[in-house]
Amino acid sequence: MTKTEVEIYDVAIVGGGPAGLNAALVLARSRRLVLVIDEEMPRNHVTRESHGFLTRDGITPSDFRRIAKEQILEYPSVRFQSGVVTSVIGSDGDFLLQLESSEVTVRSRKLLFATGMKDALPDIEGLSEVYGTSAFVCPFCDGWEWRDRQISVIAPNDSSMHYVKMISGWTKSLTLLTNASLLTVEQRAELSIHGITLVEESIQRIESQQGYVSRIAFNNGRFIECEGIFFVSTLVQSTKIPEIMGCNMSNNGPVMKVDTDSMGRTNVPGVYSAGDASGSPFQLISAASSGATAAAAIQLDLLDEEWNMVN
Ligand SMILES: Cc1cc2nc3c(=O)[nH]c(=O)nc-3n(C[C@H](O)[C@H](O)[C@H](O)COP(=O)(O)OP(=O)(O)OC[C@H]3O[C@@H](n4cnc5c(N)ncnc54)[C@H](O)[C@@H]3O)c2cc1C
Repeated sequence: MTKTEVEIYDVAIVGGGPAGLNAALVLARSRRLVLVIDEEMPRNHVTRESHGFLTRDGITPSDFRRIAKEQILEYPSVRFQSGVVTSVIGSDGDFLLQLESSEVTVRSRKLLFATGMKDALPDIEGLSEVYGTSAFVCPFCDGWEWRDRQISVIAPNDSSMHYVKMISGWTKSLTLLTNASLLTVEQRAELSIHGITLVEESIQRIESQQGYVSRIAFNNGRFIECEGIFFVSTLVQSTKIPEIMGCNMSNNGPVMKVDTDSMGRTNVPGVYSAGDASGSPFQLISAASSGATAAAAIQLDLLDEEWNMVN
């Protein structure tokens, strides 16, 4: 396709994670012409297994997407395009999407952002080597596999008490690493009552073999051994395009989310958001559910417009 040829879709879905894919499935079944544009860098790309999604417990992230795509492509009106959407202009009924490194310009009547979030890791030497193999962010996703193991919790901020309490649901062998002296006398006493060791020394590096952590070394020469790590990451929106387009944003705890109504509509007419980006509870099944809901809203809004055009 050359740059002069412009595709016109009922819906352009930016992002092909569970939110975007489930939206594509519902819209395909609603007989809509849909394009899914995906950079293919989902939030969970580092993990070997995904958990907690009914009928898919333990599946690899890539198999999850492959099966979804195979099922969606059974419907004739959906296409997939690899790439990054870099800008959007236009308004409800006629959006123009520009893709990076591509001759393709996409035109669509409605636009769904299912672009997810990215985890910025704390700046600790050796963490990226163990991330996804023996270091994780979400106990609901990976806690079961690390139950009753010796776990270090790295939480050098206000959330440390909340986070370590959460991880204690899966193991009692816990060391909390705050990387600095942060906690009050009362909080220290609370940790002590629950048998949680507190280490405030500054972390130098994580030592590991083939992704499995062996010990954590501190700047003062000391080290501790552990089997796994849970840590707090900083979550940021994968793209600023919804914000640039004027979508209202708000705080979801420390995270900025795209504001939507309960069906995924943003304040910008014709623009919808689903999944992690709009604050669904950071789980595959929640993202998929919100994608399906946004797709229903899009279909209802398109039907309304088409119905009124005939009147
Ligand atoms: C390490 C880790 C492990 C996890 N394990 C689990 C688990 O076991 N079970 C569970 O339920 N949840 C798990 N999660 C959470 C889960 O990954 C997210 O809740 C889920 O992926 C959110 O789905 P989404 O569709 O909103 O976004 P994503 O899955 O992140 O998909 C968004 C897609 O949009 C694409 N994209 C972004 N910007 C653009 C752009 N401008 N143009 C084109 N494409 C773009 C991205 O590349 C990506 O492919 C885990 C998270 C992490 C970090």
